[in-house]
Order: sequence, then C-alpha cells, then structure tokens
Amino acid sequence: MHQFLPYAWFGGRCVPFAEATLSVATHALHYGTGAFGGMRALPNPSDPAEILLFRADRHTRRLSQSARLLLTELAEETIHDAIVTFLRANKPTCPIYLRPFVYTSDLGIAPRLHNIETDFLIYGLELGDYLSPEGVSCRISSWTRQEDRSLPLRGKISGAYITSSLAKTEAVKSGFDEALLLNSRGKVSEASGMNLFIVRDGVLITPGVDQDILEGITRASVLELAQAMGIPTLERPVDKSELFVADEVFLSGTAAKVTPVRRVETTDMPGHRPVMTAIRERLTAITEGRDSAYDHWVTRIRVD
Ligand code: PMP
Repeated sequence: MHQFLPYAWFGGRCVPFAEATLSVATHALHYGTGAFGGMRALPNPSDPAEILLFRADRHTRRLSQSARLLLTELAEETIHDAIVTFLRANKPTCPIYLRPFVYTSDLGIAPRLHNIETDFLIYGLELGDYLSPEGVSCRISSWTRQEDRSLPLRGKISGAYITSSLAKTEAVKSGFDEALLLNSRGKVSEASGMNLFIVRDGVLITPGVDQDILEGITRASVLELAQAMGIPTLERPVDKSELFVADEVFLSGTAAKVTPVRRVETTDMPGHRPVMTAIRERLTAITEGRDSAYDHWVTRIRVD
C-alpha cells in the first residue's frame, strides 16, 4: 500500500486525502477520458524547507497540452499554482511523486468530450525506487503500442494505459519485470511507462517522436545531457533485433528514473554500462540540486 500525502488538491482547494473522493458515476472512470501528469519532488538535501521539482515547467506544459487533446482547457499557471499550494499544505519530508489529473467529472453515460464538465486534482505519494536500480528483465510484449491516428499519444491519456497495464501484467506473470512494446510497424516503441534507449558503438540511440512514444521529459533530458557530455545521440527507428546486440539498453521515466535493462527475453545484456552510468549520475545530481549548470531544470519551492 502506498503512503499517500495527507492533503489532495480537489475541487479547487486542499482537502484531507480521505475526503477527496468521486462518485461511482464519474464519466472519466468509465471512459478513460482523463489525462495525468507524473512529477517527482524532493526536499533539498541541504535545506529541507525547500522542495525541488524536476523540470516542472515541462510537466505542466505537457499536462496542459494533454487537456487540450481532451478538448478542455487547463492553463499552465493553474497547474503550477495548485502544485505550489499542494506542496505547502503537505510539506513533504521525503522524495514524493505527484499525480496531477484532469478528467471529465460529469456524472452519467455517453462517451464524448463536448458538453461535459472537467475538473483537476492532485494527489501525492511517497516514492522511492519504482524499478530496481540494479536493472530489470524485459519481455517483448504481445500487445502493440497504440497508433497516434487512433489515440493522441502526445498526452498521458488515461485510457491509453490499458495497453500498458496488459503488457506489464503479461510480463510480470511470465516472470519478467517490465514490458517492451513494438509499434504497429514492428519497431521498438517504449516500455509500459518509460522510454527506451540503446547504446551501440558509443552512440546513444532512442526511437524518435514519430515512433508512437510518449514524448518523455526524462527522455528529452537524457538526450540533452548526453549531447552536452559529448556522447553522440541518434533518434531513429529501433529494430527488435538491435535490442539483443546492443552494448547497453536502458529505460527512462519520471518514476523509473534511469533504469538499466539486464535481460531482454532470454538474452542477458552486458553488465558494463558506461553511458547509462554517466548519464544517471549526472541526472541524480541535477534532481538533487547539486549541479549548478542545470539549475534551470529545477524549480525550488519554499514550504516553510
Ligand atoms: N512512456 C510512457 C507510456 C509513460 O507513461 C511515461 C511516464 N510518464 C514515460 C514514457 C516517461 O515519460 P517521463 O520521462 O516524462 O516521465
């Protein structure tokens, strides 16, 4: 069971978590017509009254765009202000994961996005490692990543996560930790809730934004960091067989951070991961507010 933060943002204000409840008839619950964000925040190790949020501007922008994809409006400032109020109410003392969520809040039936009320909430939970930092085993899923022509993949649309859920459970029930999904063209897309990178001959390669991926904020950060660190990068389609011959395979995501893949199907990956290790160390220092060159990636919010 997760340890939830004591207050949720609900109905435009902070209320005790237990009071933030919805009707059984809530439209989004039945039709998947919501979109969420996922952000990490942690108290500054050298000043616990200051909360550090990694790339908060990118996260609020993506959520605002997700709302537009659901044909509703949610301004970036509205999200930002709610997050600040939420953090000041909760005063987190350990690393947390924030889950802002915009959704159709009407009661009653009929799948649609017109003539319908929407609402916005935030809750949070304590979150350490989502995946083992030592590495995960991955199954190539029998489920195919959706196509952008049937579902707007640039938003974190709730309904899309049925495929992630099926893939993850299929992987776990067959003895793996995580699932890798191919897209409808048979190219590698991403994992159930993370983007994917491979390293071949010193080049960091990841499927491009035209490969039915979520435009991950960690992914963009890894690419930018790698370039600054002098590691050549390439965004291009990745074939399934490349996973088996890669020097390194790793996943990136807000919850998963940077996690190595130690096995794909029955093939063990090499244990030496210089590129992933260097990027992970740098990213950790940035998120903990220890890298002044990337201070602009960190939003600092005082909660005292
Ligand atoms: N793909 C999917 C399907 C996800 O749910 C996530 C998690 N948000 C990611 C990739 C990684 O995105 P980010 O780095 O922005 O968390």
